[in-house]
Amino acid sequence: MKYRGSCHCQAVQFEFECEAIDSAILCNCSICIRKNAIMSDVYIGPKFFKLLTGAHALSVYHWGDKDVNHYFCKNCGIYPFHDTTYEPDKYRVNLGCIDTLESRELQTKEFDGKNEL
Ligand SMILES: [Zn+2]
Repeated sequence: MKYRGSCHCQAVQFEFECEAIDSAILCNCSICIRKNAIMSDVYIGPKFFKLLTGAHALSVYHWGDKDVNHYFCKNCGIYPFHDTTYEPDKYRVNLGCIDTLESRELQTKEFDGKNEL
């Protein structure tokens, strides 16, 4: 399946391909709990992820051991995806940024980032 996503102001637009998305994860680490983001269960590899526009609008937030690149739009503040410094270009996507998905209707799994990160 092909999906297309964007931040709120549309400065950042991206597309990716993966199996049809029917589940998601909720992470309880100190940043995800604040964002309340519903994230893709799978990581999207570099061959399947394309940033269409918005490289200039993206900023990155690091915390803790700084191994996760928490990207966000400098204009609207929305967090569309993240990757990691140990596996760059493998993205987990904020499913709320995908227009064709009802992210809150997906089956969600808890990810214990609070204790695993
Ligand atoms: Zn934006």
